[in-house]
Amino acid sequence: MSNRPYYIAGNWKMHKTRAEAADLAKALVAQLKDGKHTYLAAPSFTALETVGAIIKGTNIRLGAQDCACEEQGAHTGEVSVLQLKDLGVQTIILGHSERRHTYQEDDALINKKVKLALQHGFEVILCVGEQLSEREAGKAEAVCETQTVKGLEGVSPADLSRIVIAYEPVWAIGTGKTATPEDADVIHAHIRKVIGRLYGGGAAEKLIIQYGGSVKPENAAQLMAKENIDGALVGGAALKAETFVPIALFA
Ligand code: PEP
Repeated sequence: MSNRPYYIAGNWKMHKTRAEAADLAKALVAQLKDGKHTYLAAPSFTALETVGAIIKGTNIRLGAQDCACEEQGAHTGEVSVLQLKDLGVQTIILGHSERRHTYQEDDALINKKVKLALQHGFEVILCVGEQLSEREAGKAEAVCETQTVKGLEGVSPADLSRIVIAYEPVWAIGTGKTATPEDADVIHAHIRKVIGRLYGGGAAEKLIIQYGGSVKPENAAQLMAKENIDGALVGGAALKAETFVPIALFA
C-alpha cells in the first residue's frame, strides 16, 4: 500500500441538463460527505456553474472535460481557461481518448493545453491509453509512455505536483471490458517509472495514477488494491449516485 491518497473522479461527458446535473450533484454531496478519498465531478460546460454552486465548500472538486489551447480570441465553439477559472473550475481533464480519437487531438495539442492549464493554476488529469490493436501488437507500454512524455513536455518539476495521470485503455472505455487489475498495474508501474526517469523517484512516488475503463462498484476495490492504482476516472458509472458512490466509498 502506498501513502498516496485515492482520487475518484466522475466524467459526466455530454450528459445531463442543468436540472439533472443538479440532482446528481446534490446526491453526491450528501452521500460522499464522510468519504475519505479525494473526489471530482466533471459535468458538461453548460452545467459547471450549477454544479459548482452545489459542491462549493464540500469534499468534491469541480472539473471541466477539456479546454481550448489558447487563452482567448477567435475560436468559435471553444472554452477558455479564463472562463473555466471564472466558474470556479479547479481541474481540467485533458487528452481523453474521445478527444484524441473522435476529435483527432494529437500529443502536441494536448501538451499545449496541459501547459496553459498549469500556467493558470489548474490541476490537470492527463489521460493516456492504448487502442486494442496497439495492445494486441504488444505496444501498450510504449504508447502510454509516448503520450505521457509528449503530454508533459516542458512541464516543470514544480508543476508536476498538479498533474494526475489517468490510464484509460481505449478498448475498455464504455465497453464493459475492464483491464484486469494485474494488467492495469503493469501499465501504471511503467508510467511511474517513466515519471521517475523524467522527474526523479520522489516525484514518481507521489504521482497519482487513476485507472479508467468500465470501473464499476463490482471491480473498484480489486483495482484500487493494486500498488500503483491510486483511484479511478469513471464514465458511465459516474452518471448515477447509486453506481458512483459505492466506487467512491470503496472499502
Ligand atoms: C471515461 O470516459 O473516462 C471512462 C472511463 O468511461 P467508462 O467508465 O464508461 O468506461
